[in-house]
Amino acid sequence: MTDGSGERPLSVCITFDYDALSLWAGMLGSTNPTQISRGEFAAVAMPRILTYLRSHRIPATFATPGHTLLAYPDIAKAIAADGHEFAHHGWVHELVSLTDEAGEREVFERGFEAFEKVLGIRPTGYRAPGFDFSPRTVSLLQEFGFSYDSSFMGDDFNAYYLREGDQASPTQPYRFGGPVDLVELPASWALTDVPCFEFVWGALPGLRPPSAVEEIWRGDFDFAVERNPGGIYILTLHPQTIGRGHRWLMFERLVEHFANSDNVVFETLGAYAARWRSENPHDKWCATPSVHAPATS
Ligand SMILES: [Zn+2]
Repeated sequence: MTDGSGERPLSVCITFDYDALSLWAGMLGSTNPTQISRGEFAAVAMPRILTYLRSHRIPATFATPGHTLLAYPDIAKAIAADGHEFAHHGWVHELVSLTDEAGEREVFERGFEAFEKVLGIRPTGYRAPGFDFSPRTVSLLQEFGFSYDSSFMGDDFNAYYLREGDQASPTQPYRFGGPVDLVELPASWALTDVPCFEFVWGALPGLRPPSAVEEIWRGDFDFAVERNPGGIYILTLHPQTIGRGHRWLMFERLVEHFANSDNVVFETLGAYAARWRSENPHDKWCATPSVHAPATS
């Protein structure tokens, strides 16, 4: 925890993509009851997750599809009652790059409707299902009033403002767009649980031992806490994946390591984004060229 040295602490953000049934019945369109039951396990894991977070006083961010909120409203209310943050995570975990603009708008609107119906809130943070964006998504996030996103991978432990209008072509030089007033809290496939743990026939081998994954997650944390004070370390976890016994025990060991390290705080994505934004006003930040805001933009 913080050591009183005056150096800015590393913020550890535990985020849960609470996909539950939406991943299987929605995005993957499965009608196979045993496959869909893998998502049902998320609802079984949630009480143990909430109990642990409560007993360790760790605030977390739950990126939750509207489909999950409607399937398990009482669990959603329990998450809210414990003071955790919610982020928008689509309607049924759609990959928006596969739809058109009308379809993408509907995904946002139906997600918001579910939050309003079940919890009476409107989240201001977004985590894209599958970390998947369309060329329209940055613009739509601004239109819908989001303050931050946590899906890009342009940095490891530093927030930045997203750009709009980049042009990527296999035949032309890359063209950078300009930064917009939308804070990015970068994610990473290396710091998420699904690819290493979930077995999907013909697609994902998964089923790696937690000790191997612990080495990766711990290594990134040790680097960040030593060399990136003031930064943000984000784990992207899924209740249906990390909640399994052997993986959950690993998670508890890891959190203990985080908590016993000097100069670490646990906070939500929203809390970090709000503070970073206040300390890095958009106009001022854009005036200083960087990798994320090239002078050519
Ligand atoms: Zn998800």
